[in-house]
Amino acid sequence: MPPDCRTVRQSGIPFTSLQPPVRIAGQLEHTRAPTSPFANAEKCTQCGYCLPVCPTYRVENNELHSPRGRVSIILALRNGDLSVEEAATVLDHCLLCQACHAACPAGVRPGKLALQLRAHHPLPASRLSHLLHLITNHPRATAQAARLLRLYRRSGLQRLLRRLRLLRWLPGLDHLEALLPAHEPDIPPLPEPTSTAGMTERPRVALLAGCMARLFFPAVPKAAAHLLQAWGMQVVVLESFGCCGAPYRESGDRTTLRRQAQRTLDALHAAAPLQAVVCDSSICAVTMRSYLRVMSGDPIYEEKARQLAEKVQTLSQFLAAHPPPPAQQNLPFVRLAYHDHCQARQGLGIIMEPRMVLGRLSKGIQELPRSDSISADGCCGAAGEYQLRYPQRSQQIRDGKLQAIQEGGIELLVGENPGCLLHLAAGLQREDAPVMVRHLAEVLYEGYCLSQPIEKVSS
Ligand code: SF4
Ligand code: SF4
Repeated sequence: MPPDCRTVRQSGIPFTSLQPPVRIAGQLEHTRAPTSPFANAEKCTQCGYCLPVCPTYRVENNELHSPRGRVSIILALRNGDLSVEEAATVLDHCLLCQACHAACPAGVRPGKLALQLRAHHPLPASRLSHLLHLITNHPRATAQAARLLRLYRRSGLQRLLRRLRLLRWLPGLDHLEALLPAHEPDIPPLPEPTSTAGMTERPRVALLAGCMARLFFPAVPKAAAHLLQAWGMQVVVLESFGCCGAPYRESGDRTTLRRQAQRTLDALHAAAPLQAVVCDSSICAVTMRSYLRVMSGDPIYEEKARQLAEKVQTLSQFLAAHPPPPAQQNLPFVRLAYHDHCQARQGLGIIMEPRMVLGRLSKGIQELPRSDSISADGCCGAAGEYQLRYPQRSQQIRDGKLQAIQEGGIELLVGENPGCLLHLAAGLQREDAPVMVRHLAEVLYEGYCLSQPIEKVSS
């Protein structure tokens, strides 16, 4: 049974003390110096500035699920008052959104502490996660599953099952089904070049097509490839690596993360020379930026990771940094908002780039309204597989965002991370809100590569 913060406090643990620990709990012993997570936790002054920005604390008002509570758990672990298992059970509830990092005046990083702890005690994978990984780790299985999903959507079966609510008898599966997009724009793949004339002088970039995009939004990598070509690049589309390892990074399964990182690095090195590696899903860019640390000490892959580390970018980062081609049409939306993926915003500092590229096609970009009860610029609650692990809390967190979207009168919500888009679109659909949810690549494709708008269907 996990402790609550009160019992931790009553145990007399000196939260703000920098005294050396009495004893060090089990498996974390070897990590004490100099990269010890304890050193960062010890900086906490218990001021509480982080509480209002933490999504789990906002919906539950429970200190145990606040950044400060999570730091207290780490310190209790340091003091040997909790085992790694007990501490991990509590910290599993962190979304890793990193909103608390920016809010903390002392430089404490509770989200990173939770991630570090998971590396010692990984989250168990649910049956649904296993099923998803079986598909996404194998590119052929991903392509076949994407075809089946398209058939399911286009045959009318999806509409029928949803109307009759037949899947409610299969808990878990009904939640996963509710996340499936109901619409997929028709975007042709990039045609094979008929001649190489002029192509070889173009800068060569790899498009890393994320597994979730290939599975749930197959139009996205196609749209991104067209855009990169329209931006004057020679594009190599990478789909054969499986998954970059993002879910394993977040669950703490370092062995599988390293295996997936090796596969991805091998695929990228086979495509060299590359000027840039562009990710159509922002979580892939976050994960790949961690490869150098993940592969540290590996005699082969550390160097491979080093060569690519600075080249990895999100689609919006890359497009914002290069001159655009002439636009074919402006976006026909009066009110448009961009949804930030937390780890890209907080971890990679990507805020202005997507707004800049969208701003070239629309004057209607607006920020979501903020209030004490609405976490408009914070996490949507998706957090990768968190939405499958803790669906109820995930939806509670999403509610604030949905309220802000609707209060702001948003017509089109754009994002770059498939997990967030699935989660938000499912919520808006459930509320019957007339808001379209689209990936940035699809929206820009329409503005730069088409002279007619894509058929409009509400999400
Ligand atoms: S803001 Fe930082 S120092 Fe203050 S309670 Fe939160 S983690 Fe601790
Ligand atoms: S990373 Fe996010 S969920 Fe975790 S403690 Fe910080 S604000 Fe809360």
